[in-house]
Amino acid sequence: MVFNIQKQEREIFDLIHTCASELGYPTYVVGGYVRDRLLARQSKDMDIVCVGSGITLAQNIASKLRPIPRVAVYQRFGTAMLKHKDMEVEFVGARKESYRHDSRKPIVENGSLEDDQHRRDFTINALAVSLNDNNFGEIIDPFNGLLHLEQKIIKTPLEPGKTFSDDPLRMMRAIRFSTQLGFEIEEETLKGIRKYKNRIGIVSKERITIELEKILKTPKPSVGFKLLFDTGLLQIIFPEMAALHGVDVRNGRAHKDNFYHTLEVVDNLCQNTNDIWLRWAAVFHDIAKPPTKRFNAQVGWTFHGHEALGAAMVPRIFRKLKLPLDHKMKYVQKLVRLHLRPISLTKENITDSAIRRLLFEAGDDIDDLMKLCEADITSKNPNKVKRYLENYTLVREKLKEVEEKDHLRNWQPPISGELIMTTFGIEPSREVGIIKTAIREAILDGDIDNEYEQAFDFMLKKGQELGLKKIDK
Ligand code: ATP
Repeated sequence: MVFNIQKQEREIFDLIHTCASELGYPTYVVGGYVRDRLLARQSKDMDIVCVGSGITLAQNIASKLRPIPRVAVYQRFGTAMLKHKDMEVEFVGARKESYRHDSRKPIVENGSLEDDQHRRDFTINALAVSLNDNNFGEIIDPFNGLLHLEQKIIKTPLEPGKTFSDDPLRMMRAIRFSTQLGFEIEEETLKGIRKYKNRIGIVSKERITIELEKILKTPKPSVGFKLLFDTGLLQIIFPEMAALHGVDVRNGRAHKDNFYHTLEVVDNLCQNTNDIWLRWAAVFHDIAKPPTKRFNAQVGWTFHGHEALGAAMVPRIFRKLKLPLDHKMKYVQKLVRLHLRPISLTKENITDSAIRRLLFEAGDDIDDLMKLCEADITSKNPNKVKRYLENYTLVREKLKEVEEKDHLRNWQPPISGELIMTTFGIEPSREVGIIKTAIREAILDGDIDNEYEQAFDFMLKKGQELGLKKIDK
């Protein structure tokens, strides 16, 4: 079959062809680019394999382009990359790889196109397009990748055991591609993942988490997480999430399955946000339900304190997954900690003070918190869903009203510690903290307005109670 070369590819393909012919290198476009183009998916990364030196080929091509682009050379990997228009084109010599059992570092030698196709992970990723004189544009498909693209299946080119034990990350990649592309994993390949799941232990956490994040970036991540669970991989790479799975029944009372609930929340949220950190917050929101689960004869199953313990579990899991331990982690923690609060605001006669406190604690993340709470409604009863959503609409209105009045989103105290010290002529001390907290509480309770004069008077009163005197300047 011939690849339907598009206008925007023509120039770079022709140039590669010319340079490769001059050097006498058989050359091909391979992998993800070919797959994505055949699926009509956008692709900005193009991989070129030549039987020769990828670095020499890239430098040769760059010298013929105007302006001459910079070539990034990675000697250690024998690769080179250049940018052409909005494409990143990577060049490498065809390779043959052989693996030892105890390491995922292969022994790499120069090889033919066929060798190179054999080391690819899936049949749909092993397609190559020739850029050579004799068969320019022909698709070289040794493992039926074209058929599998049509049938929408993910299948390893070799026996699955070989492909997966050579590089166990490919098990995660199979599940990621299945989620991204909406393809089924072929039965023997899936069996292979189940059988070789423990080999994932030799793969670095960073590479695993890159795949997890790619799954989480899809419109329906539940597909991938279910596959990870069903194959047993999730239990190894993210046991806290796997522990959400299952239902306990006692005295005829069951709780919901928190794994499938979490996945529904994640999918719901993905319809309303592309923010990966908000998506992570959905993954984590009930993470402490298993360790807080209790049975009470009167009320049934409870998960008291799961929001606080959940927030406390976030840093340890982030560290294990090699996710960043910075403000993004704090944001996830905050949403986990606060995720039950808007529910309590749906009760009748809710005070302004409760709303002010939530605004104060959530700050600018209040809208994201509301999105998470709305996604958390997974009732199968449409009337209930409607009622809960209406309740949250009311909460949003109340939040807006109070925010407009009191400006508490990014609250800065109207009286600084410095001012308290100079007013009473005191050094940094416990009293300064007591007065600051008292002012904050008085504002949040609505006893005084969020403004300087009232806060100043309140400070004088509080100081007096503590036996402090205003000094004359
Ligand atoms: P994406 O860009 O979405 O990550 P991709 O398939 O383009 O998907 P890359 O990681 O850029 O992924 O890899 C390009 C090609 O290199 C793949 O299509 C595949 O042929 C090959 N490849 C990548 N990683 C592996 C691996 N772990 N084992 C075998 N082949 C791989």
